[in-house]
Amino acid sequence: MRVINLSSGSDGNLTYIESENSRIIVDDGLSCKETEKRLSLLGISGKDLDGIVVSHEHSDHIKGINIFGSKYSLPIYAHDEVWSNLYDKLDKIESKNKKIFTDTFAIKDLIVSPVEVPHDVKCFGFSFCENNKKISILTDLGHTTDKIFYAIKGSQLVYLEANHDISMLRNCVKYPLSLKMRIAGMNGHLSNDASEAMIEKLVTTGTKQIVLSHLSTENNTPELAFNYITSKLLDNGLKEGEGFKIDVALTKPTTLFKIKGD
Ligand SMILES: [Zn+2]
Ligand SMILES: [Zn+2]
Repeated sequence: MRVINLSSGSDGNLTYIESENSRIIVDDGLSCKETEKRLSLLGISGKDLDGIVVSHEHSDHIKGINIFGSKYSLPIYAHDEVWSNLYDKLDKIESKNKKIFTDTFAIKDLIVSPVEVPHDVKCFGFSFCENNKKISILTDLGHTTDKIFYAIKGSQLVYLEANHDISMLRNCVKYPLSLKMRIAGMNGHLSNDASEAMIEKLVTTGTKQIVLSHLSTENNTPELAFNYITSKLLDNGLKEGEGFKIDVALTKPTTLFKIKGD
């Protein structure tokens, strides 16, 4: 199983996942042209894909889907309640390619399990399993719950949102108070602190690789997120590099992960 970040953050999210028989992308918040360009870095064309799995309706997750998805006639998989807000936005997608899920489903040998996450619109995180390999993607959530943790527990790799540093957000002069409250709210985005708390639970239950994702360009930096989270983990007796690794997904293509079975 291979997982590659092609773009992460509010400028556009695009993650490539490959199992033995299937090739998919999760979300597509880049233009069609940029999506094609980034996939070509992997030697992949739109016609090689088996579909696009969509987390939610925000444009940083779906911007490219209407054009890119229709150009290659790709099946678009979204939860029933997410689709209700997608029909207008994805009007170029043929009806036969509008794939609705309400529970776990399969794309060839890849088993996709959605878990609802608290965001200001209907939104889902996902686990992707191939045999005994499991990876999860969890972004755009205001807080974590036990249910979410148990859904992704046992993943070898987790893409986890580390959106903002709380004090940077508080002091940000660019954002109006209402936006700050939305981001920091129960249905907004995970702070570095909240992300760290989830990482503790994951790495003490066997997750070997964390990829910090969906970083704010205004209220976080890759260095800050990494240093803050790893030092807080260390305070709690967990040393990055010893039993688990942390990487940061950037807005540009980064990090290739190959997941092997146990
Ligand atoms: Zn987003
Ligand atoms: Zn969102």
